[in-house]
Amino acid sequence: MLYPSPYRAGMSSLGFQWVLHLLREAGISAERAFLPDDLDGAKRRREGLPTYETMTPLGRFPVIGVSLAYELELAGLVQALELAGIPALRQDRGRHDPIIILGGPLTFSNPLPAAPFVDAMLLGEVEDIVADVFLAALERPYDELLDLVQRTPGGFVPARQGDALPAIAKASDQRLPARGPTLAPEAELSDMFLIEGERGCHRQCTFCVMRRSTNGGMRLVSADQVLNFVPEEAKRVGLVGAAISDHPELPALLERIVASGREVGVSSLRADRVALKPDIARLLRAGGYKTLTVASDAASQRLRRTMSKGTTEAHLLTVAERARQFDYKVVKVYMMLGVPDEGDEDIDELITFTKEMAKIHPVALGVAPFVPKRNTPMVNDPFAGIKVVEQRIDRLQRGLAGAAELRPTSARWAWVEWRLAQGGSATGLAVRAAVAGGLSFAAWKQALEAADPEPTPTAPPRRSLPISPA
Ligand code: SF4
Repeated sequence: MLYPSPYRAGMSSLGFQWVLHLLREAGISAERAFLPDDLDGAKRRREGLPTYETMTPLGRFPVIGVSLAYELELAGLVQALELAGIPALRQDRGRHDPIIILGGPLTFSNPLPAAPFVDAMLLGEVEDIVADVFLAALERPYDELLDLVQRTPGGFVPARQGDALPAIAKASDQRLPARGPTLAPEAELSDMFLIEGERGCHRQCTFCVMRRSTNGGMRLVSADQVLNFVPEEAKRVGLVGAAISDHPELPALLERIVASGREVGVSSLRADRVALKPDIARLLRAGGYKTLTVASDAASQRLRRTMSKGTTEAHLLTVAERARQFDYKVVKVYMMLGVPDEGDEDIDELITFTKEMAKIHPVALGVAPFVPKRNTPMVNDPFAGIKVVEQRIDRLQRGLAGAAELRPTSARWAWVEWRLAQGGSATGLAVRAAVAGGLSFAAWKQALEAADPEPTPTAPPRRSLPISPA
């Protein structure tokens, strides 16, 4: 199982750990490989890419499963294969090379740029299918494996199906919850036992791949079930789920974990839940949290409504009050800039409102440019453009000076993410060219524009959008 990012990121991925567990449970001797922390050094020393367990070169394995979390990790996939001495392009591999099967969070949206590098993909929730497909890859002739993948829900064979992605798979209820068998000391979430408290989301935010329509909404795991799986030695428990704070038993579950003397974390928090259920903020603080993190997702109330994001200013102000009440260091609010129909007045509203929040408690804004994703109603909306996003970040920075901390992510890398998020299988060749060019922004730009010369759309003219109830 290859994770095309360094160890600490891979071992913080519940999906990666879970699939590893499922394969081992099916009797497959599965090992792990990660992109080295010091990739250049590994190349210079000609170390190849050995597995974590037995230091066996990755290229000696008959089958490689890859988990891709997000678009920019596509470069890591190419780098890992090249480091391992495996031809990155499927068309350059022979029958003695490993068969490569891809899955992971990116398959919920757009995995097509990975198509030139892999033999098969398993899209979506793979619990019911992954062991059968890997056993077939180990035991059956290549064509029979591809036949099986094509017949399997969520199975995709790029060489046969072109760019026509099938619907993603949905695992049966009995397979839940995903849980991490391994406590990984050097992972991002070290010493933390990860377990799903729920899967999916019942809400409808129009920009989000995890919205209700993707896989039928939210599936709950009971508090008792979660606690039964927590190993005695776990010092910290991480509750995972796109909408974990909507779990009706969350306060009770947190209470029991904290009472057992463990630290606790959650993968995401809705501002309305933190506002309406004060126990959540209280228990997370008791469970080791120092930062209270929520998402507001858009600069103004008007934009939040257009994107069906139910968070209101009243919720966010109450979150700041909870942070003060329970002595958090800071409130962190994630949001996107450059969403359709956004204008300077939305940024000004954000500045005024953030100052209001900061009067209650210190605030840090985590700002990411909006990137439209496949499998969402906003797929056809434009990327605002690097210049527009940078201008808005600048306006925000000047407006907030000294009042709140601003942590923006790069508009340039968001542009790369956007091109990959919208791309087809041909875009994969651009990824390879960008890797060959050293992965600078200029290398990405040249490669992506050569693969798809369509000019970069900039923010469209302002238009009136229907306002849906929050
Ligand atoms: S943004 Fe959050 S609340 Fe909205 S649909 Fe996605 S997971 Fe659900």
